[in-house]
Amino acid sequence: MNMNIAYKYYGQKPVYLNITNRCTNKCSFCIRYTEIGVDGVDLWLEHEPSTEEIKQALEDIDFRNSEEIVFCGYGEPTMRWDIIPEICRFIRENNPDAKIRINTNGHGNKIAGHDITPSLEGLVDEISISLNEKNAQKYNEICTCQYGEEGFYELLDFAAKAKKHIKSVVLSIVDVLPPEDIEECRKIAEKIGIPLRVRKMIK
Ligand code: SF4
Repeated sequence: MNMNIAYKYYGQKPVYLNITNRCTNKCSFCIRYTEIGVDGVDLWLEHEPSTEEIKQALEDIDFRNSEEIVFCGYGEPTMRWDIIPEICRFIRENNPDAKIRINTNGHGNKIAGHDITPSLEGLVDEISISLNEKNAQKYNEICTCQYGEEGFYELLDFAAKAKKHIKSVVLSIVDVLPPEDIEECRKIAEKIGIPLRVRKMIK
């Protein structure tokens, strides 16, 4: 256990922010259940970092020279929806050119109990939402969502709301799905006017 709050991996340029280990899902493919971290970086946190600890971690990794900062994992970043705007403002003030992205399961509004997407306007450049599957039943089968099948509809609603406030909103799936299921996912994304990104599975 340690406190790798800001990290880089596989020689990639972005700085990733690990601000919680909690999540509303228990996805069967989640690397939290099989790995200690990514690329040798232990992502299990001793405690949830304060805003001051997150800012210090950003300073320690020289974020002022980074092109992109990504709220990612272990865990679902929007579990900490209440501190994300403050961290984004800190990044904007000190590195105005950096792109800010959130990788999320799309449950942020359900977690907060209200629509959080307006609070991200002007602060977040891109939100990438994991769609994972072509329907609610399959989604819940692989994600074991604490909201059950509702978690699937919740993420679609989050995506539609986010689109009103954020420049770039994408739905994502991994390339392990059968081609016909990928096509179904594409239709779902098209229906709400959001692009679908097919990602490579991280092994
Ligand atoms: S939503 Fe992400 S962090 Fe949560 S269990 Fe699934 S893969 Fe893991």
